[in-house]
Amino acid sequence: MARRLVPSLALAAVGMLIVVATNPASAAPTVPARPPADQARPYVVDGVRTWDDRNRVARTGAAIDAIEDGHADVTATPGEVREIRKLGYRVAEDRREDFPAADAGYHNYAEMVAELDKAAKDHPAIMRKLSIGTSYEGRDMPLVKISDNVAIDENEPEVLYGAHQHAREHLTVEMALYLVKLFTDGYGKDARITKLVNSREIWIVPDLNPDGGEYDIATGTYRFWRKNRQPAPNSPGVGTDLNRNWGYNFGCCAGSSSDPASETYRGSVAFSATETKRLRDFVLSRRIKGVQQIKAAIDFHTYSELVLWPYGYTMATTAKGLGADQRATFKALGTQMARSNGYTPQQSSSLYITDGSIIDWLWAAQGVWAFTFEMFPNSPDQGGFYPPASVITAQTTRNKEASLQLAEYADCAYRIIGKQHQYCY
Ligand SMILES: [Zn+2]
Repeated sequence: MARRLVPSLALAAVGMLIVVATNPASAAPTVPARPPADQARPYVVDGVRTWDDRNRVARTGAAIDAIEDGHADVTATPGEVREIRKLGYRVAEDRREDFPAADAGYHNYAEMVAELDKAAKDHPAIMRKLSIGTSYEGRDMPLVKISDNVAIDENEPEVLYGAHQHAREHLTVEMALYLVKLFTDGYGKDARITKLVNSREIWIVPDLNPDGGEYDIATGTYRFWRKNRQPAPNSPGVGTDLNRNWGYNFGCCAGSSSDPASETYRGSVAFSATETKRLRDFVLSRRIKGVQQIKAAIDFHTYSELVLWPYGYTMATTAKGLGADQRATFKALGTQMARSNGYTPQQSSSLYITDGSIIDWLWAAQGVWAFTFEMFPNSPDQGGFYPPASVITAQTTRNKEASLQLAEYADCAYRIIGKQHQYCY
């Protein structure tokens, strides 16, 4: 992790030396003060690989702040930027509300929205970009629907994939974007995907915590932020742990904190967080004539490589609403999905007790076969919450099979234990 948080000292030092020697502003004190429009700002310069590259960029007068993986972070005036572009380098404004340059492969909020807009435009017959409402800070929270006859509410089993309840778990947004691509690009090409899109209504919520996600990357250095950005009432504390704010056995079992300063602050009451309220309202809107249409769900998190099923609030393997057949179904489906991605399958509470989690609510209150996936990596030394962008493709495609299996079982999960006739038909 330190690799990406701190630029190489040696390179930074090189950059500093060049800047001191060549920056006209420091060499020529008679240069008049620049008008505000001409002020130096942060930029990212692509293709800065060699000593000669660094010198060429530095000679324009731009200050090289850091060099990593072929990019230079520079502070430069518009005139200097023009000079750098003339030399043939690609220069982009670094708004400092973005991933560090080395992790540019991750989508920030605006890039995620743009990606969804493009997918919806490219696949109008099977995909719509909708919204579950706005976050606490007012960001739109996109909702993707993928199905044949997408404009119509057909009587088909529905599947929900959610991501990014926890701000620093950015890989989960990539997972959701991967699923959008999988189901849209695969339609009409891959028989299995075509069949699913034709026979299911697929819902994807790629970003359940846009405020926290943007806050986490806002300085260009990760903040390790987990919660949303909603201030707690009568407290200086900011942020609720969204995955402790759901309304089934809220705060029941020492699986969350009542302290607003805590990382696992559950909020003042169930659904006090704007974002959990939004998703709850969407899920409730899928109850039609008293029957919940969403049958199965995955909520993506990082990290630990686990497939988890309810309940989180108790160590008991069966409990209210979770009898032996339900428990056997969760275990069989979870174990089968875990065989495909190499994760470890287990009941959520065997990791540790959590109360107020989304999967407990989805199952107990709505009867949704809901799983938590804890994605790559397995351990902190593989990047922890911040694995490099180079793993995105491998670690999202790794969940292709499990994600398809879940959708395939959405018509009747009991089929996996051979009890479909008893429960479904
Ligand atoms: Zn998480």
